[in-house]
Amino acid sequence: YAAKRSTNASAWYTDAQEASRLTHLSLLSDLRSAVRKSELQMWLQPKLSLATGKAYGFEALVRWQHPVRGFISPAEFVPFAERTGYIGMLTMWMLEQAIVTLKNWQNNYPDQTIAVNVSTHDLRDASFPDQITALLRQYELSPNMLKLEITESGIMEDPGTTIELLNRLRAIGLDLSIDDFGTGYSSLSYLQRLPVSELKIDRSFVTDIDKLPATQGLVKAIIEMGHGLGLSVIAEGIETAAERESLRLLGCDSMQGYFASKPLYGDGLQKWLSSLPTD
Ligand code: C2E
Ligand code: MG
Ligand code: MG
Ligand code: MG
Repeated sequence: YAAKRSTNASAWYTDAQEASRLTHLSLLSDLRSAVRKSELQMWLQPKLSLATGKAYGFEALVRWQHPVRGFISPAEFVPFAERTGYIGMLTMWMLEQAIVTLKNWQNNYPDQTIAVNVSTHDLRDASFPDQITALLRQYELSPNMLKLEITESGIMEDPGTTIELLNRLRAIGLDLSIDDFGTGYSSLSYLQRLPVSELKIDRSFVTDIDKLPATQGLVKAIIEMGHGLGLSVIAEGIETAAERESLRLLGCDSMQGYFASKPLYGDGLQKWLSSLPTD
């Protein structure tokens, strides 16, 4: 009797697994065709200098408007794409959108950069740098306006292998940024060896920073360390004037966040671009 019960229990468990597998499989085929059916979109969130207030570039953020499920957040489907091996396809799609956009901007907005988020899984693919080179060649774009963001936690999962690949990306001429800094347990010795030019302070240190003296102390130390390593420091997730002012006084170089602008697309993006000062 006990044996039978356990069989039933495992049968039930298998059914649940099967159901979740089927959900995933359908989402997977959806993700594959999402690109073709233009359900994916590249939204762009501005980055601004804290010293001058001038906008100098954007971060590319993927959006998925699913015909049945509605809006699916990248926080939900990016980890799914990573688990199922489809992240490479997604990354290359975003890179192509970014490259096409930069190409279109060459006449009117030649100084604006676009940073694409790259997954650690992409950095396990030894052909990744060559794939980017091929895309840049295809669209005849020089690499200096394209940037890549890699999370600190992703880098520190396997720093040896990652640094080697980051060196190859840097050799192409791409600027690299450490994303979500402060949440990934960096080893300081590795940090010194990373071929990056930007450090991005995680939003968790930015929220309410004007009211939190201890956080200010911590962020000041992060900014000084970044500058000591020769990096430009940007804060993500600035939502208020008070947060922006705190970061500016602590010596942070740039900002990103809803206070300046939410991610933009279509008309909203065009409006932002046409409001940029021409010099
Ligand atoms: P992230 O790279 O750290 O991007 C910042 C996230 O914070 C974005 O969420 C952005 O919309 C949001 N954000 C920006 N400013 C503010 C603010 O002032 N307040 C608040 N509350 N949020 C703000 P999003 O677009 O939902 O993306 C979430 C994460 O998903 C990203 O975090 C990134 O890790 C990942 N992701 C997004 N697009 C891509 C992509 O194309 N490829 C990969 N591999 N990951 C992506
Ligand atoms: Mg990012
Ligand atoms: Mg980030
Ligand atoms: Mg973040």
